[in-house]
Amino acid sequence: MRLVLLGFPGAGKGTQAKFIAAEYHIPHISTGDILRSAIQKTSELGKKVKNIVADGRLVPDDIMTTLIEDRLKQNDCQHGFLLDGFPRTLQQASALEGITKIEGVIDIELSEEAVIERLTGRRIHPASGRTYHLLYQPPRVQDKDDVTGEPLIQRPDDFEATIRQRLNVYQIQTSPLKAYYQHAPAICYMKINGAEPIPQVKEKIAQALTKLSHAREKID
Ligand code: AMP
Repeated sequence: MRLVLLGFPGAGKGTQAKFIAAEYHIPHISTGDILRSAIQKTSELGKKVKNIVADGRLVPDDIMTTLIEDRLKQNDCQHGFLLDGFPRTLQQASALEGITKIEGVIDIELSEEAVIERLTGRRIHPASGRTYHLLYQPPRVQDKDDVTGEPLIQRPDDFEATIRQRLNVYQIQTSPLKAYYQHAPAICYMKINGAEPIPQVKEKIAQALTKLSHAREKID
């Protein structure tokens, strides 16, 4: 399965990606996670993108395309992958076509207001990536990770002003990808309502992917 996840930041892509990756035994490739880890390690890439990511702007297409091209060459991608956060512009989508053939696009839809509520309440444990939500999934002890007891943080790009900026960027630069993939030949575009509870969203995605697998088997 070679899949792309689309949807506003905060639509639930990361959560659903973990389920899909486990179910189909494919790597979950989150460009946001790759960039955050580069920033944490202060690598050359990290230094270049630090301010861009903190401001909620997009990293230049050429940097992102090279990063994905290198990542998709790795062995674990031989039998498929799930891209989360890439492509984010039409240029990235067209570059991706030159690298590999995408079979399915899962587009998780959610309103801007719901995204803001979700993201401003999000807290993370930086070392493990565990996420919490002040309202929906609070830690057992306020502001502390359940497993290690270490402090939780708010991602700098989860502050409300930055979220609004990220949503703006998404509307302008990424939302044209919906029409692009809806009309792309040989790509199955799956629209999913992200406002439902996590298990229901998971179930809808599983159903859509089962249909896609059956369609592939017929072609094979
Ligand atoms: P995410 O965790 O996917 O919301 O990504 C966090 C931030 O990383 C974004 O707000 C961008 O600054 C940057 N980023 C991630 N993926 C891309 C991409 N495909 N193109 C450009 N910038 C990206």
